[in-house]
Amino acid sequence: MYFEHLLDIVLGERKILDIIDCSICGFEEIYYQHPITHIQVGRACSHCNFVQKFDFDHEVKSE
Ligand SMILES: [Zn+2]
Repeated sequence: MYFEHLLDIVLGERKILDIIDCSICGFEEIYYQHPITHIQVGRACSHCNFVQKFDFDHEVKSE
């Protein structure tokens, strides 16, 4: 499937963290996290062909 292939390229190794309603089309928008580090890697909606990669490498969390 093309979209899964796109996710492989953009996000790499991942597992599903959460599924919400896409704010654009109302379909499933899936949040992914890395299977080992559990860091969020990105989100995607297969209906919109939308993929966003999260880059937290340069971000310092103040928790
Ligand atoms: Zn969508």
